[in-house]
Amino acid sequence: MLNFEQITNLQNKHKQENPTLIREILAKAKNANGLNLDDVAALTTIKKPELLHELFTTAKKIKQQIYGNRLVLFAPLYISNLCNNECLYCAFRASNKALKRSALNQQQIKEETLKLLDQGQKRALLVAGESYPNSGFQYILDSIKTIYETNNAKGDSIRRINVNLAPLPQEEFNQLKKAEIGTYQLFQETYHPDMYKKVHIRGKKADYNWRITAIDRAMQAGIDDVGIGVLFGLANWRFELLALMQHTQYLEQKFGVGPHTISVPRLEPASGSDLSKQPPNAVNDEDFCKLIAILRLAVPFTGLIMSTRETPAMRRQTFELGISQISAGSKTNPGGYNEEEEDASQFSLGDHRPMDEVIRDVASLGFIPSFCTACYRLGRTGEHFMQLAKTGKIKQMCNPNALLTFAEYLYDYASDETKEVGEKLIAKEISEIPTNVRPKFLSMLEQLKQGHRDLYI
Ligand code: SAM
Ligand code: SF4
Repeated sequence: MLNFEQITNLQNKHKQENPTLIREILAKAKNANGLNLDDVAALTTIKKPELLHELFTTAKKIKQQIYGNRLVLFAPLYISNLCNNECLYCAFRASNKALKRSALNQQQIKEETLKLLDQGQKRALLVAGESYPNSGFQYILDSIKTIYETNNAKGDSIRRINVNLAPLPQEEFNQLKKAEIGTYQLFQETYHPDMYKKVHIRGKKADYNWRITAIDRAMQAGIDDVGIGVLFGLANWRFELLALMQHTQYLEQKFGVGPHTISVPRLEPASGSDLSKQPPNAVNDEDFCKLIAILRLAVPFTGLIMSTRETPAMRRQTFELGISQISAGSKTNPGGYNEEEEDASQFSLGDHRPMDEVIRDVASLGFIPSFCTACYRLGRTGEHFMQLAKTGKIKQMCNPNALLTFAEYLYDYASDETKEVGEKLIAKEISEIPTNVRPKFLSMLEQLKQGHRDLYI
């Protein structure tokens, strides 16, 4: 699937920064047709401030052209921290006796879901360690059902559940598909086989191949929105970027569609993990922004996800460079939304702000916080979604839908302060809506004011 020799050759070929070549690649990237591996290898050599500035400016343009100023919001829902694996960077690893273990029961999952709903969330990312209670994989299926079936006092429910779960055998992926998940997310952590072996010392996760082939099994089960990612800080980021590109191209060739999203988690300190405190190949802030900008140019139509591992300042910086989805108000311990203590967390967070504050911040920067799930619910996923995205057709629907879900949030859940900022943003954005859909949008906005909900174009 991956061709390490090609990566080595490309890295040897592009050792030095070549300004003429880099400017040619940036010019080509402006067409939003993506980049090949050779281009990506060349861009990773950028050092000079003026070239870095040109890279960032190009990434900002592409982000604006394809995603406009929308940022999709979600929150993780950790249902269990039981785990049989020994990933040296993670607090959930089996040998960490200091961690309080729990797997939420269905009632507790319902309570966590209610907390998310009462904050105004509409998208949840279900997360668990790799060990399920007695009912085995059925526990995951039951949990998905519980989350979808939970309604809060306003009658709201989670509209899309994405999952971040250990690799499954084919049959369980088939069941996951039937449970109507949105995206199946799985990070390879590191594509570098030696580093992979070093940091995954026991348990099923020690098998590199079982993990890298999981996305194939998910797609074979008909899950056509898949998310991949790298845990940055393990192996060299330049290597990881090229491997990520190879994985993407492999999926495109085999299934006709690449990943729906790419996540860019950076290693954060985790309890009892020396490795997480001294990452073998720490990525500094400048390189982190660089790799996000390069990804934006290389795969312009793939969503890029930024979690609350990063600080508010770093998050703000990366929004315009290419990030299209963010988590907000996150807790990474099972039951975390209903309790104060956090000693069962997976890693420490950089952004602790409540969701309402994040939304206010995002809106005051001019980004539209979006809870839109229209594509998924109308079957616009996988290749179908990519076709709409690549022909630019999706854009006509995205901003109006984002604004409608944002308006819903403002009416139902926002603080007065956020409402004020948000309503100003909506008023400003109305003039940007294409004239062919504006009347429909305005009529839906009016219906929302009168109490109708869940409207989309
Ligand atoms: N247990 C499953 C697995 O490993 O695939 C499911 C998800 S795991 C709870 C979610 C992700 O958290 C991992 O894929 C890893 O990238 C990330 N993670 C683990 N430890 C981390 C740390 N110290 N800092 C940042 N991210 C971390
Ligand atoms: Fe378990 Fe996942 Fe943490 Fe590894 S990263 S110890 S598999 S929860």
